Amino acid sequence: MSSVVQNYVGGGWREASSTETLSIKNPASGAEIAQVPLSTSTDVDAAVQAARAAFPSWRATPSPVRARVLFRLKALLEEHKEELAVQLTKEHGKILAETRGEVQRGIENVEHACGVPTLMMGDTVEEISTGIDSASWRQPLGVFGIITPYNFPVMIPLWFWPYAVATGNTVVLKPSEQDPLTHQKIVALAREAGLPDGVLNVVHGGREVVETMCDHPDIVGVSFVGSSDVAKIVYTRASAAGKRVQTLGGAKNFLIVLPDADMDATLDACASSIFGSSGQRCLAGSVVVGVGDAHHQIRERILDYASSIRIGDGLDTATQMGPVISGAHRDKVNSFIDQGVADGARLSLDGRGATVEGLEDGFWVGPTVFEDVAPDMSIVSEEIFGPVASINRADSVEDAIAMMHQNRYGNACSLFTTSGHAAREFRYQAGISMIGINIGVAAPMAFFPFGGSRQSFFGDLKAAGKDGIAFYTDQRVVISRWSAVKADPHNLPKSSS
Ligand code: NAD
Repeated sequence: MSSVVQNYVGGGWREASSTETLSIKNPASGAEIAQVPLSTSTDVDAAVQAARAAFPSWRATPSPVRARVLFRLKALLEEHKEELAVQLTKEHGKILAETRGEVQRGIENVEHACGVPTLMMGDTVEEISTGIDSASWRQPLGVFGIITPYNFPVMIPLWFWPYAVATGNTVVLKPSEQDPLTHQKIVALAREAGLPDGVLNVVHGGREVVETMCDHPDIVGVSFVGSSDVAKIVYTRASAAGKRVQTLGGAKNFLIVLPDADMDATLDACASSIFGSSGQRCLAGSVVVGVGDAHHQIRERILDYASSIRIGDGLDTATQMGPVISGAHRDKVNSFIDQGVADGARLSLDGRGATVEGLEDGFWVGPTVFEDVAPDMSIVSEEIFGPVASINRADSVEDAIAMMHQNRYGNACSLFTTSGHAAREFRYQAGISMIGINIGVAAPMAFFPFGGSRQSFFGDLKAAGKDGIAFYTDQRVVISRWSAVKADPHNLPKSSS
């Protein structure tokens, strides 16, 4: 039997209290590589108590000293980058170029969080009223819960916990139960970097762990990334328990191509957006709308390109697209394709039934392209999260935007054009939080906030950037007036350190 992943509580690796496990498989071969425990509320409580106990001394650790732990972690992540990328390909399936990119994006968040002494600075105004000064101080709040999805199991936890601990909080992390192995290694590196016991705790599992985190009275806030339905449940439940909450949900991203676009560059951007990571990205392009004459040019290019994509094991450097995460997910993607056909869309390229020689038990879906689609078909209205594109035509950019606004999601969108004016208008009209101009994957880097709008995001402060610091701190405003009379030393408060 393969090994069972351990929780990390109070600085030690511990078995979960439950013996119930799920299988973790290499998606390219279908072979089991480990098992993950379905931890219970007892396990969550132990982790929360460890995090709670670690909070006072971690909060009292000077911010440059906290930052130095992250500097050391960054160096260790650089040193182990290739090993992490290979492990990630084995448990997630995406190709090595993509897992290297994911690890790099994760490192950039650690790098950004290293600037915490500056990022945490408050504001001051002298003489805001006669003889009165005012200052704001950003202070940590306690224990935060962080819940993450399967599609970026290295990067997404690093969107959150480095900022939470840099600002002086402590954390309980629940990674995705589908691919938690690579982040285990990162937790071990954080320990090696000198992160004190109890500052970061990890509890593996599913729904019971998440619900306990939402309800737990000693967790002050929750960061979540996953599908919109679960994001909404977590947002509602954790908010009702009085916590601050940010939940990032699913997506259906539109790529709008104008006739004046540089078509070769546009194809590269659209193709990697749609088929990269087998479409399992919240920023993946999913509906391509060619405006006027752009339609036939882009459809031909996408079809040509998609037909030539080589699928296979992500560790093989000749592979251009890996498998999807699981057999269940493959079946879900296939059933969306079935439904698209039943709804009357034209299936111009069919990825159902794809297979790879020697890896017949892998979870394969080939590149798939639909045309003649309508906004109310489920292939257009719902998130598929697989390598499936819908190509449509609009008479004008306004019509294309109107088509996009019929969708409930609002994570990202892109416009392809050589017109600065069209780009500026699009930014104004799009009404969506992450906008690409001649960029297929509109991913903000660590210095900017990451998160969508409409049903793709619940909350107000987003992940990373300045929002990440604001989410994990409270601004305490001190309004001071000092009299000229000398203070009585017997009335001075005791030091808190
Ligand atoms: P998911 O919603 O199935 O799971 C996310 C997390 O929630 C996991 O840790 C899982 O254990 C937990 N969970 C699942 N069902 C639950 C339930 N009923 N109650 C409580 N907890 C539950 O998502 P996933 O399949 O792991 O990830 C893919 C989804 O994440 C896609 O919808 C994708 O768009 C989204 N995503 C969004 C962003 C973003 O920035 N908006 C980024 C990455 C992924």
